[in-house]
Amino acid sequence: MPSRRLRVRKGIRRVFVRTPGGRTVVHYEDKRPNFRRCAVCGEVLHGIRRDDERPLPKSQKRVSRYHGGNVCHRCLESRIREVVMAEWAAQTSK
Ligand SMILES: [Zn+2]
Repeated sequence: MPSRRLRVRKGIRRVFVRTPGGRTVVHYEDKRPNFRRCAVCGEVLHGIRRDDERPLPKSQKRVSRYHGGNVCHRCLESRIREVVMAEWAAQTSK
């Protein structure tokens, strides 16, 4: 059995297992890894650690970019392009 410190952490799942002797014991399993994903396309974000074992410092939960840790670089770039092109179109049509 893992020590108490390892049993109470967030990334653990309790599984009740019936032994051959008839007892029910608790097994502790790691939950499936829960990667941060892009809010737009759902792609797994790079450069970000999972925080299911212990709270992480902020620098490991996001990348230093606008919407870093929330939106991937491709979606951010395409959104910026859309906004800039819309502004440019609005300016040229005046
Ligand atoms: Zn994306």
